Amino acid sequence: MELRTSLARDCAACGERVLLTARFAHAWTNRSGRRVSGVREVALCGCTSASPEARLLLALIAVEDGPDWANLPAFAELLDNWLRSVQAAPDPDALRSEEEQWHAGEL
Ligand SMILES: [Zn+2]
Repeated sequence: MELRTSLARDCAACGERVLLTARFAHAWTNRSGRRVSGVREVALCGCTSASPEARLLLALIAVEDGPDWANLPAFAELLDNWLRSVQAAPDPDALRSEEEQWHAGEL
């Protein structure tokens, strides 16, 4: 896994500057049953705040003006929770709903 504080990168979803990006190995099985491997990158940005894990991490960064020695354990725990959430398999119902919205031109 690779973590970057990436203030120079814009969020693909909203265009604002992202606070942090994480790149990690990602694999899935395609429709023919073949295993496909790749790399996935996720960004921590204000527009991801619908996720409770992202919201808590963003709140710590905003309130505390970023991690320092005093809040490092809390930052590490919130970062770990966020990383676990973004690496989890997507909810199939949410994915289907998002696909329907995309086909309807709503995304
Ligand atoms: Zn964004």
